[in-house]
Amino acid sequence: MKTLIDRLEKNSVLSKEDYISIIKGCDSEEAQYLFKKARNVREKYYGHDIYIRGLIEFTNCCKNDCLYCGIRHSAGNVQRYRLTKDEILSCCREGYALGFRTFVLQGGEDPFFTQDRMVDIISSIKALFPDCALTLSAGEKSYEEYKAYYDAGADRYLLRHETANDEHYRRLHPAEMSPENRKRCLYDLKRIGFQTGCGMMIGSPYQTAETLAEDLLFIKELEPQMVGIGPFIPAKGTPFEDKKGGGLGLTLLMLALTRLTLPDVLLPATTALGTIHKTGRELGILAGANVVMPNLSPLAVREKYRLYDNKLCTGDEAAESLERLKRRLLLTGYEIVTSRGDHITNSEKKSLNNGGKRNEI
Ligand code: SAH
Repeated sequence: MKTLIDRLEKNSVLSKEDYISIIKGCDSEEAQYLFKKARNVREKYYGHDIYIRGLIEFTNCCKNDCLYCGIRHSAGNVQRYRLTKDEILSCCREGYALGFRTFVLQGGEDPFFTQDRMVDIISSIKALFPDCALTLSAGEKSYEEYKAYYDAGADRYLLRHETANDEHYRRLHPAEMSPENRKRCLYDLKRIGFQTGCGMMIGSPYQTAETLAEDLLFIKELEPQMVGIGPFIPAKGTPFEDKKGGGLGLTLLMLALTRLTLPDVLLPATTALGTIHKTGRELGILAGANVVMPNLSPLAVREKYRLYDNKLCTGDEAAESLERLKRRLLLTGYEIVTSRGDHITNSEKKSLNNGGKRNEI
C-alpha cells in the first residue's frame, strides 16, 4: 500500500485499479502515511495558509429535483427565500469587515435570478469590493450566460460534477438532468477562464470504490483549480432520507487522494465534514485541505438553506465566530489568512521551484 501511495506522490496519478486498492484497502496507519504526504504537498504550494471564503446562500428556490438535496424543487417542507441585491451587498460588507476577501454566492437554480439580475449583482459586488474575489455556485447555465458572469467580473465558479460515472449520475438525478451537460458546463467554465471547481459527495447512494476511482481520474483530466468534497448526509423530505450517510474516514481519504492527484488544488474542508464530526474540519485540514467556507448568510435565512439534516450554521460555522474558528484551526498547525487565496499560477510555481516565495495578492 505504501508503495502505491509513494507512486501517487511521485506521478500525481494512478490507474483506476490502484486507486480502487487504496480506497478499499487502506488501514489507519497507511491512512496517516497518506495524510502526511498530502500535507507535505499542500505546504509546498500554499505553506501553512488556510484561505477563508464567506458563503452567502442567496436563494433556496430551485427548479431541479436532485434526489439527495434538501432544497430540491419538490421538497415540501422548505420555506423558500431569495435575498435581495441589497441584502447580498450587506452580507459582503459585513464579511469584508471580518476579513473575508472572497465571497461565494451559492444557491439553487432559481429562474428568478436571470442573467441580467446576476450580472447586476456581480458587477455591484465587484465595484464595491474591487480587492475581493467573487465565486458563484448557481448550477448549470449556457456558455453565453457563464461568459456574461465572467465579463461582469466573477472570478471563480463551483459546480460539483457529483459523480463521474454516468449511470451513477442518473441514479442521483431526475431524467431531465444529464451527466453530459454537467461536464459540458465544467469544460465551458474552464475555457472561459474561471477558476473552476468540481467535486462530489462521499458515500452517496450507489457510490462504489470504482465510481470514486473514476472521480479521481475525471478530476485529473479536467484539472480544476478547486475540488469540493464532503460526506453525503441524508435530508428529510427527499427520496434518500433513509439512506446511509457518508463516513468520516472515507471522506478524509478522498481529500488526501485528491490533494496528491492535483497537488496545487484549492481544497475546502467542507461544512458537511464539520457536520458529521465535531473536529471534522480540523481533520480535513490535516488530510490536505486548505480552505474553509464559513457562513455569511443573514441569520434569518440560514435555517432555511438546509441541503441536509443538522447542517452546521451557527457556532463556529457562523462568520461571527471567525475568531473562535481561527483559534481552533491554529491547533492543527495551519493558520487562517486574509487574502483572496487564488489558485497558484504557473509563474508563481516556477518562482517557488527556484526557491522563491509565493507573492500574495
Ligand atoms: N445549485 C448549485 C448548488 C448546489 S448545493 C449547483 O447545482 O451546483 C452545493 C452542493 O451541496 C451540491 O453540489 C451537493 O454536492 C451538495 N449537497 C446537496 N445535498 C447534499 C446532501 N444531502 N448531503 C451532502 N451534500 C449535499
